[in-house]
Amino acid sequence: MARIKGRNTAPELLLRRLLWRRGVRYRLHYRTSAGRPDLAFVGARIAVFIDGCFWHGCPEHYVPPRSSTEFWSTKLRGNVERDQRQTARLEAEGWTVLRFWEHEVFEEPERVALEIHGVVTTGELRRPTAQPRVVRVESLDPCGNVERRYLRSLRDDRDLGSEVRERRTGKWKRRRPPD
Ligand SMILES: [Zn+2]
Repeated sequence: MARIKGRNTAPELLLRRLLWRRGVRYRLHYRTSAGRPDLAFVGARIAVFIDGCFWHGCPEHYVPPRSSTEFWSTKLRGNVERDQRQTARLEAEGWTVLRFWEHEVFEEPERVALEIHGVVTTGELRRPTAQPRVVRVESLDPCGNVERRYLRSLRDDRDLGSEVRERRTGKWKRRRPPD
């Protein structure tokens, strides 16, 4: 299964350093029957994916390109469906699957590291199960500055409705770690 994002991005490297510092040891890009998670805890069967905001339909940051809209729209839908199949298959095989957004790892690396650490040490998963993904964006005005964004649940393919908002290209903001 071909990957669709760059590996070893800066946020990912930072996360790995934080985990290492906590004594958390993992395998990188371990081969499973449903692709290679970014981090895997093979014995505990925990798979961690860091999903790029653009490729995987982040509700906060997905911005549809202004040209080749048909192509990108099909691509987005295909990527989300593949994430759904991959997650379902791994879970059916007894893996615990954690999916983080790349912006989460960038903005709050400590929190993400803590969460992974918690799941690895307790085996308890506290991620929300719906995990909304943008699957389609409609332009509502001729300039393409107002959009209707359709969301689906990653885990059960539930339709999570749509939202109308102005097109925006939000920047990630690093947040201060909790004390
Ligand atoms: Zn994002």
